[in-house]
Amino acid sequence: MKLDEFGLIDKFARMTKPGTNVIVGIGDDAAVLKSKTKGFYDLFTCDAIVEDVHFKLADGARKIGYKAIAVNVSDIAAMGGIPSAAVVAAGISKNISTKFCEELYSGILFACRKFGVEIVGGDTVRSKGIFISIAMTGVVEKGNITFRKGAAPGDTVMVTGRLGHSLKGKHLTFIPRIKEARWLACKFPVHSMMDISDGLAGDLKRMCDASKCGTVIFAEKVPLERTLKKLRKNVSLKHAFTDGEDFELLFTVSPRVAAKLEKDFNRKFKVKVSKVGVIIKEKKLFLESEGKKTPLKFRGYSHFG
Ligand code: ADP
Ligand code: MG
Repeated sequence: MKLDEFGLIDKFARMTKPGTNVIVGIGDDAAVLKSKTKGFYDLFTCDAIVEDVHFKLADGARKIGYKAIAVNVSDIAAMGGIPSAAVVAAGISKNISTKFCEELYSGILFACRKFGVEIVGGDTVRSKGIFISIAMTGVVEKGNITFRKGAAPGDTVMVTGRLGHSLKGKHLTFIPRIKEARWLACKFPVHSMMDISDGLAGDLKRMCDASKCGTVIFAEKVPLERTLKKLRKNVSLKHAFTDGEDFELLFTVSPRVAAKLEKDFNRKFKVKVSKVGVIIKEKKLFLESEGKKTPLKFRGYSHFG
């Protein structure tokens, strides 16, 4: 049987033995390493975007460059951290003009200024299609780090923003939730957090696997992207659970914290936060709709599909 993306990652993880400098290796949004700065951890992440998989040439060079940085910033944000430096490997195909490359880089640099990232190197290679692969470092105070593991039975499950239909355009222009994630991580006891890159269904499963628990999601509470509201309920829910690249935050806190957090968050930020479910002991995902609980049948997004 051919392995999918996560089967392959599991295989790689089993072949790797983390050293003593590693707090968390493969399996979270970013690797967590011991830092020379007292009271801090270093974060280290990597994300590549590839022509015709994560973008089309027609999307425009600036937007493609912006996205390449934003997806990495989103992973640093998901750890509760602050991004610092990045190296950029750019694969450039024969048909690409110098002007396109310049615009691509100006998109990269625009995102870097916006999110406080410094480009400190990279690599430029000839490739069949365009790709941009970025490795990014970040830092986080030990007390503010947020892992995927840590969700506990009884926790309220929350998400920022609206889910679904990202590939209609949002995936190129989304703002990684760095401000919101920092605020959450610094002000509240967040039990677990990650960004949603492979659909709520896929990433919720990953969070539950890491935390050894399950979830009940309340269908009526899932915040749908506006364009989904015209669709039938089941179709719009499917999009919200299975579309890739929302880059919203998924996190859990105790119910007592959730109430205050929701009020404060929605007062402070333009983007809204929603309570969408509850963590349970049973290691399964359920959907509760109109009071009826059934096993969640949606699966996450897969670029390998
Ligand atoms: P994210 O969507 O947050 O970027 P991924 O789903 O891409 O995370 O990856 C999940 C985890 O697996 C991460 O910790 C990532 O660093 C790790 N990972 C992904 N691909 C590889 C690989 N080829 N080798 C080693 N680790 C990998
Ligand atoms: Mg992530």
